[in-house]
Amino acid sequence: MEGSVPSIPGDERQKSGAGGSALPLMPSAETSSGAKPSTAALGTVNTVCAICGMEVDPKIPTVEYRGKTIGFGCRMCPPKFKADPDRYGPLYLKNEVIER
Ligand SMILES: [Zn+2]
Repeated sequence: MEGSVPSIPGDERQKSGAGGSALPLMPSAETSSGAKPSTAALGTVNTVCAICGMEVDPKIPTVEYRGKTIGFGCRMCPPKFKADPDRYGPLYLKNEVIER
């Protein structure tokens, strides 16, 4: 169980200097184009839905399987997974899609 998150004191707020030359700050946009969605961001062991092959949608409720969190690509798939977890579970853990 991950309980307490230590709050780090220290407000590193920069003083908005009312100086002469105000440099326009370029916000470092973290738009890493071309990067695949990581499982760490999703919190699931898989990035693709083993049943439908779609990318895991974080809005879809996840299912626990053997201590792992399984993500799904569509709302149709969690019921299918729950109906036959031992069929789909290993594929999810390997992040593979069922071949039809
Ligand atoms: Zn799916």
